[in-house]
Amino acid sequence: MNLHEYQGKSILENYGVAIQKGIVANNSNDALEAAEKLTDLTGTKWFVIKAQIHAGGRGKGGGVKLAKSLKEVKEISESIIGMQLITPQTPSEGKKVNKILIAEDVYYPGNSEPKEFYVSILLNRSTGKNMIMYSTEGGMDIEMVAEKTPHLIFNEEIDSALGLLPFQARKVAFNLGLEGAAFKSMIKFITSLYRAYVGSDASLFEINPVLKTSDDKIIAVDAKVSIDDNSLFRHPDFKNLRDLAEENPVEVEASEAGLSYVDLDGNVGCMVNGAGLAMATMDLIKQSGGSPANFLDVGGTADAERVELAFRLILKDPKVKAILVNIFGGIVRCDRVAQGIIDAYKNMGDTIKVPIIVRLQGTNAEQAKILIQKSKLDVIAATAFEEAAIKVQEVLR
Ligand code: GDP
Ligand code: MN
Repeated sequence: MNLHEYQGKSILENYGVAIQKGIVANNSNDALEAAEKLTDLTGTKWFVIKAQIHAGGRGKGGGVKLAKSLKEVKEISESIIGMQLITPQTPSEGKKVNKILIAEDVYYPGNSEPKEFYVSILLNRSTGKNMIMYSTEGGMDIEMVAEKTPHLIFNEEIDSALGLLPFQARKVAFNLGLEGAAFKSMIKFITSLYRAYVGSDASLFEINPVLKTSDDKIIAVDAKVSIDDNSLFRHPDFKNLRDLAEENPVEVEASEAGLSYVDLDGNVGCMVNGAGLAMATMDLIKQSGGSPANFLDVGGTADAERVELAFRLILKDPKVKAILVNIFGGIVRCDRVAQGIIDAYKNMGDTIKVPIIVRLQGTNAEQAKILIQKSKLDVIAATAFEEAAIKVQEVLR
């Protein structure tokens, strides 16, 4: 589950990580009120207005702007709320901005220049350890830094049993070239950031930029936070952080019905039971010259109701040119699944306009094939894996 910047920052703050303070708003009046509150809270007279969408690069797309007066807060808020924000990370049509964050300006002048760093924490899947990735080149595209100046990106791996050790936090602060008060602040920052990452069961924290202010404070100016969905049962308070407007509506509907559905870009819808079979089926589709339009796992009970819902979800995708149903009947008998498909098909009348290839294998597979053939529905039955592949190929031609 991805979070908005303001939500991520609030998790950080709960763990004692220093952040650029801000208040979220839905309209320009609330934005004004937020700005006045921030002045009371921090003394700031300048503000940054930041579009809250699930995509980075907002600054480049005009979604992050500095306001030097309350009048500008109002004007800028009005121009950002409701805009279709296009950044290098959004789809080409951009994303609609529904909320903005009014934040204190933290790039104020002082004894030293403000300096931007990059810090992220993520799981290194090849070593199975959490890793702090950091760089002196903050504020910009980290992908660019990785390409042009990879030696400026450092990694620090953390042993899960030991946690982040004090020398590791010092090493980060040292490699970032800090000294004095800023060095100490960075150690505190990294230590509490790591605690927040583990405590919230996150799979990604990306703080870009981490800012050293002109008075040597170290604070998170941006926060990209992803929480591991498998851990959400441990965090009931995170439940309302999900922003359904940011998610694929079909995936949302599927997950509410307990189906695993992942939208992909291909043209063959696939309905399967079990994730392993889903993987094999997607390979099969690729080999037969098509490409999967989705990953849909109906799970253990492939009854008429679930099959019908699965068909409806798949058919919402206009890219789908054929549907391959590939179900292994172990505990559920194939003839029951076949009956489910037939019933679902009949219920749906003429809403199904693409060919359906059904491959049922396992208990009572032959009876299932006969049932489907006898049903006189426009469904192509197969029992062997390859047979199904050839039939998909034929209908796509
Ligand atoms: P992103 O573009 O989506 O990554 O959004 P960020 O939150 O990282 O902000 C983009 C850029 O806006 C930062 O790199 C800063 O240069 C600038 N910015 C953010 N906060 C402030 C601020 O308080 N004052 C000023 N002057 N600039 C800011
Ligand atoms: Mn950023």
